[in-house]
Amino acid sequence: MKELDPEDLDRLPGLRIREGESFGFRCHPGIGCFNRCCRNLNLFLYPYDVIRLKQCLQISSDEFLDRHVDAVLRPGSHFPDLLLRMAENAEKTCPFLTTEGCGVYADRPDTCRTFPLEQGLRNVAATGEDEPVFFFRPPDFCLGRHEQKQWTVPEWVEDQEAETYHRLTIRWAVLRRMFRNDPWGAEGPAGARAKMTFMAAYNVDRFREFVFGSSFLKRFKVKPELLIKIKKDDAQLMLLGFDWIKLFLWGIRSQRLKPKGR
Ligand code: SF4
Ligand code: SF4
Repeated sequence: MKELDPEDLDRLPGLRIREGESFGFRCHPGIGCFNRCCRNLNLFLYPYDVIRLKQCLQISSDEFLDRHVDAVLRPGSHFPDLLLRMAENAEKTCPFLTTEGCGVYADRPDTCRTFPLEQGLRNVAATGEDEPVFFFRPPDFCLGRHEQKQWTVPEWVEDQEAETYHRLTIRWAVLRRMFRNDPWGAEGPAGARAKMTFMAAYNVDRFREFVFGSSFLKRFKVKPELLIKIKKDDAQLMLLGFDWIKLFLWGIRSQRLKPKGR
């Protein structure tokens, strides 16, 4: 998900799809370009993508990050993004691609389910609200864009079961924006605080061990009903992790998380 400044809206490649507008698209196994889009990708993964994929693969978030992800620090940010590591074959295929199509289809990442759209987030100065913005941007080889079937953005989001992904990715994008300024100081982006923050953002199983296996619950107030949920619910725990990052790095309290005794 791109962070957009107002001037970016006219500069970005692709056709912006506004409310009420539609785009033509259909993808199906019989199409000539089938699976061509699942190779040699810079596919960024967001925290909820990690959760769904590690659940799908029935491995821990630690194993998932180790096997499938490269962390990259992009210009203008002081926090790493995650790139899905492509397979080491001539075509650099997605590691989840099978001859029948996507092998993790029900849990495919946000970017894959939003495709051929790309979602950006812009902050509307007048209201201070964040607003998602969508661009139709299939690659030239994608034949699906010549199909007649028309979609509005909400229709596409519903069809691709992308609503939860978009909602949680926006939560992440809003937090990630705070890393435009360097929070690490002298210890730098490889220091202990950065490692803890990386864990809370991307490594939900490790973060659960931290919450329940350290002095965390002696130091922070978490509502009892939420405490029960986060024992099993990875998405809720991820959101608590986002709140913890804000408190840990910037002292920002939330309804979910407050320091004890203060
Ligand atoms: S390139 Fe486009 S039409 Fe072809 S398989 Fe990918 S999404 Fe579908
Ligand atoms: S996760 Fe699935 S849809 Fe996404 S690139 Fe890989 S095979 Fe294609």
